[in-house]
Amino acid sequence: MSEPKSLQEAIIYFSNPDNCIAYLSARRWPNGVICPLCGSDSVSAFNPKRRTWKCAKHHAKREFSVKVGTIFEDSPIGLDKWLAATWMLTNCKNGISSYEVGRALRVTQKSAWFMLHRIRLALQDESFGKLGGEVEVDETFIGGKARNMHLSKRAQRITGTGGKDKTPVVGIFERGGKVRTSVIPNRRKKALHAKVREHVTVGSILFTDALPSYNDLEKDYAHQIIDHAVAYVNGNVHTNSLENYWSLLKRGLKGTYVSVEPFHLFRYLDEQSFRYNYRKNMNDGERFDLVVNQIVGKRLTWDKLTGKLPEIETCPN
Ligand SMILES: [Zn+2]
Repeated sequence: MSEPKSLQEAIIYFSNPDNCIAYLSARRWPNGVICPLCGSDSVSAFNPKRRTWKCAKHHAKREFSVKVGTIFEDSPIGLDKWLAATWMLTNCKNGISSYEVGRALRVTQKSAWFMLHRIRLALQDESFGKLGGEVEVDETFIGGKARNMHLSKRAQRITGTGGKDKTPVVGIFERGGKVRTSVIPNRRKKALHAKVREHVTVGSILFTDALPSYNDLEKDYAHQIIDHAVAYVNGNVHTNSLENYWSLLKRGLKGTYVSVEPFHLFRYLDEQSFRYNYRKNMNDGERFDLVVNQIVGKRLTWDKLTGKLPEIETCPN
């Protein structure tokens, strides 16, 4: 059976565990299987009964499955469900909630929630190059919909301070190219300049609104300002691509996820920008292939996910 091109084909194809292993190992080890622990290529032939390989070097955990060293490691959930969930999150235009995945794959909502967060790791943008040419920069606030919260939480959050639980997000958009978004501590100069310098090549043309935090970027960039108090567009000076992206992003977050804790927001940002950046010139199977190529070397434990470690601070975005 050839590799899947639609969700229906994917579910059938990956219901066979050998297909899952073949699909994953071909991408992970295009030049032959390598021990994920020591990197040795002295590895036994595949054991079809145990569905594992064994490293010839002497060390702990010599026997390994295709899951070891990927976002699927240590999960009791089968690859059939993992790959179906990955397909859905990669290709459903507005994302998919843990409730939907739970129902579709017959896992608990809590398991599905954890799965989706692990899969979002594979959706993180791995191109580290900077954006350039004509680049729009803009910020927005996300969240703070108190009416969707549990009563006790709501009381806690509503007290007095209006926008306090809204999370500031900055977007950087290369016209004709990719969008990148990240959570920022505030909209002050230091935070915004740091993001611009991190993501935009010096000498590029920069379009922003009149927020004073963007002042002084003209030393390194051809900085053009559109003052929204006067007009929204002046020739090619505007931030409309990002304005459009924000409304798309917010629609997706509201429609599918209802409310997102600020702590987890960057994961949803990664998810939405991945789908946006790869929406064109690629079919569902190719997009899925790209994600599967990014599952290696990433782990997300429950403790980390639920905030026992300050992971948001170590996140590159
Ligand atoms: Zn080894």
